[in-house]
Amino acid sequence: METIAFIGLGNMGAPMANNLLSAGLKVQVFDLVTELAKPLAAAGAKVCDSIEQVVMGADAVVTMLPAGEHVTAVYLGGNGCQGIVNYVGESTVLIDSSTIDPKSARLVAAKAKERGIDFADAPVSGGVTGASAGTLTFIVGGSEQAFIRAECVLKHMGKNIFHAGDSGCGQMGKICNNLMLGILMAGTCEALNLGIANGLDPKVLSNIMLQSSGRNWALELYNPCPGVMENAPASNHYQPGFMSKLMLKDLGLGLEAATQSQSSVPMGALARNLYAFHNMNGNQELDFSSLFEFYRSEQP
Ligand code: NAD
Repeated sequence: METIAFIGLGNMGAPMANNLLSAGLKVQVFDLVTELAKPLAAAGAKVCDSIEQVVMGADAVVTMLPAGEHVTAVYLGGNGCQGIVNYVGESTVLIDSSTIDPKSARLVAAKAKERGIDFADAPVSGGVTGASAGTLTFIVGGSEQAFIRAECVLKHMGKNIFHAGDSGCGQMGKICNNLMLGILMAGTCEALNLGIANGLDPKVLSNIMLQSSGRNWALELYNPCPGVMENAPASNHYQPGFMSKLMLKDLGLGLEAATQSQSSVPMGALARNLYAFHNMNGNQELDFSSLFEFYRSEQP
């Protein structure tokens, strides 16, 4: 793999593309917002004007886009673009790292397969911090061959790379993880707030729960109560991190998937509604641990 096309240079995509450049690969980039390519151009990337141009001569294409509709338009065509699957040949592997619905991921994979092209859905966990540090976790769906080819590129941007199963399974793995994360963050906020309201010091309570059966990722690494953990977003005015609006999006994807499989997700539905309410109150851009403030503001 020598030449990588990178499409979508937002909060996640820009640092990911930068890590590919740091690894010595040739990187060609494109975003609808042309300004976003400038720092990458300074770091050695070739800036392109269209999807058609950016994928030309690429051994691999990586996309990091907002949602399913952007991904299907970019790969299959729409908004004046004919779609990547119509611009590249079998020698190019396609990798979508956006978080989208598994149905769209499977559709793109099927259309790519019709033309003999490997496609992997490879959403990430780790946020902007992981993207910058090159320590993302990639959760990959696709054939064994697509996974092996994708891994050669993903290893430059992440630390852990899992093959979750066939097409769409990467997205489903990510959705399950974030459904659980939303639920456990809400539970952690709730327990801490209850303790504080009944006279406990949040640092003492956090330590007790960390050494007890309530231990979880949020308590360990991402305490939602300001002042408990120096480096957590809670102690930095809830600057993200992982925005509340993204948690709402991912919980929504979880509920959509549950509707399709007729699974029962009462906890996920409750967490989604908590985040919908929290976001409606103007907290979309704050870190998702700011849900703690929702509980705190409930105090008499
Ligand atoms: P972002 O909105 O900052 O970036 C998306 C970029 O895609 C934008 O710059 C936009 O201009 C570009 N874009 C949209 N349509 C395009 C098109 N047709 N052609 C070219 N560029 C186009 O979003 P982000 O925070 O970087 O997130 C990207 C994806 O990663 C999302 O699916 C998100 O859910 C997921 N994700 C984000 C985080 C996070 O912490 N931000 C963490 C994990 C996963």
